[in-house]
Amino acid sequence: MNKLLMVKYASEIFLKGLNKNKFEKILKNNIKAALKGIEFDFVFDSGRWFIKTEDLEEAVERVKNVFGVAEVCIVTEIENDFEVIKSLALLEVNESAKSTFKIETNRANKTFPINSMDVNREVGAYVLNNNKDVTVDVHNPGCLVNIEIRNKTYVYGKRIRGVNGMPYKTNGQTLLMLSGGIDSPVAGYMMARRGVEVSGVYFHSAPYTSERAKDKVKDLAKILTKYIGRMTLYVVPFTDIQMQIIEKCREDELTIIMRRFMMSIACRIADDKGMHSVATGESIGQVASQTMQGLVVSNDCADRPVFRPLISMDKIDIMDISRKIGTYETSILPYEDCCTIFVPKHPKTKPILEQIRKAESVLDKEKLINDAVENTEVIEIVND
Ligand code: ATP
Ligand code: MG
Repeated sequence: MNKLLMVKYASEIFLKGLNKNKFEKILKNNIKAALKGIEFDFVFDSGRWFIKTEDLEEAVERVKNVFGVAEVCIVTEIENDFEVIKSLALLEVNESAKSTFKIETNRANKTFPINSMDVNREVGAYVLNNNKDVTVDVHNPGCLVNIEIRNKTYVYGKRIRGVNGMPYKTNGQTLLMLSGGIDSPVAGYMMARRGVEVSGVYFHSAPYTSERAKDKVKDLAKILTKYIGRMTLYVVPFTDIQMQIIEKCREDELTIIMRRFMMSIACRIADDKGMHSVATGESIGQVASQTMQGLVVSNDCADRPVFRPLISMDKIDIMDISRKIGTYETSILPYEDCCTIFVPKHPKTKPILEQIRKAESVLDKEKLINDAVENTEVIEIVND
């Protein structure tokens, strides 16, 4: 008997009306891309998607993590033969070693002569007759046997939850401020999961931050490409800007002014590359620069929406996601980022916009930004 992977996609895609086909097509291509290196056939049967491959386990792992996939099931494919259906259902119940079961049938193929209610009843009776240790429980079955009757029949028990979300690259573009920390890779993942195409920008302060700090950011971007295929990373030289700020501004205003520069530069790059928005890993109240007042003052430099998907999350929950997506172990490696080196002892937690604008007016902001953008390194990171 042939085992295949059945893919169900997120219910939100069904709601797309006339655009549904476009979403389906992108999702299908994303699934195919995720299976790179595995031999497979993509099979359609009456609106359902199936993947035929020798490498089922690996395919399950990859496909369940494709954004837009709601569920994957390993199904057994058989001809539309009622005797075979019955014995396979019995086998599923026996192998589950559960004491209760339920049969659930979906008959998309109306030429099959028995309707789904009767299939449920007759298959159920057959299982009860051949296994005296089980009973039917329609509300909370230990083993749910699904029977889908299409051009072929597909029988399956176990269902594996997918990541859901929206197909990647169906919801515009964002430039993620990607540092080496725990938060920003999670923020990038969450944006990508909603279908937003993600590029990264990293502000690098050589030689105060080592080449290894930059490598760490590249490693994090690489882990994200497991979910998004590829990512462009912009590495912005940030040392001159920081030195100027340190030289000319008050110590307690360093961080907030620095963050304003980051925001301005991110927006400039986003604009140059036609990206709609910027994203960060900020969470309200987490550190001094992430107070409401701090966010207001740095947001003042943005000329487009700034998305902060972690804004209301606790660190502990962010850490859980980072472990799940595989960035945590890299994020906690102890290479310093520019913020930890240039941190003032007592940063302002309630900066006032007018004061900060005035404070930074001693800098030639336009020139500093232009120089940084002009010398930005562009790195293409690809999943392999
Ligand atoms: P993370 O864990 O993502 O580093 P954090 O808790 O260290 O975040 P901050 O250092 O205040 O917090 O940074 C807040 C956000 O600003 C980060 O999530 C990231 O989006 C952005 N950011 C900070 N430093 C950099 C940098 N060097 N390059 C790019 N983005 C940065
Ligand atoms: Mg950080």
